[in-house]
Amino acid sequence: MTKKQLSITLSKLKVFSSPKIRLEQYPTDSNIAAEVIWFADLCKDIEGKVIADLGAGTGILGIGCLIMGAKKIIFVENDKDAIKVLKENLNELELENYEILNEDVSNFDQKVDTVIQNPPFGTKEKHMDRIFLHKAMNVAKTIYSFHKAETKDFIDKYIHESTFHATHYFEFEFPLKKSMEQHKKKVEKIKVGCWRIIKS
Ligand code: SAH
Repeated sequence: MTKKQLSITLSKLKVFSSPKIRLEQYPTDSNIAAEVIWFADLCKDIEGKVIADLGAGTGILGIGCLIMGAKKIIFVENDKDAIKVLKENLNELELENYEILNEDVSNFDQKVDTVIQNPPFGTKEKHMDRIFLHKAMNVAKTIYSFHKAETKDFIDKYIHESTFHATHYFEFEFPLKKSMEQHKKKVEKIKVGCWRIIKS
């Protein structure tokens, strides 16, 4: 498996059939997902690890980790329609070693090695980004978390005041495909950061 092959495999996954704006349902772009998962694997955070994908949506992040040899993925997602698509994606690739929890992220409380998450950015439901980050810090010692780059100061401060510290930060242009009505232009781009955070 090369990074390119990982990206191609992920690009073939199904995405939300009718994305819910309230839940900020936009899937991670396959190139970006492959980039982060490849890097995470080099950091020894994937292979043989138990990983939670919080706000898993249609599953691109957790599925990428499974492909890269994770021991087990726990997908946590509160939307039944997204889970339906997630299951189709898992079956299509004939993947095993996963658990799907149809629940709100606040209710998740299993300890894992790594959390990987592209959660809502908190633009629809205030502080959702914080709720996810707080949860991730409660269940894992290593976290990969996507947030809107314009909230970087806030996220950095949040991390600084916690018992974790950031080891890496990546910035991406996130294509928000025409999946949501409110995005009028064909492909609107927003700047998104991905933090690697570990327990101090
Ligand atoms: N992680 C996926 C989906 C990103 S969109 C990807 O990278 O492609 C954010 C996801 O979080 C959506 O699927 C949305 O339904 C889910 N979500 C939003 N609020 C949630 C909550 N409170 N608990 C669990 N999942 C939630």
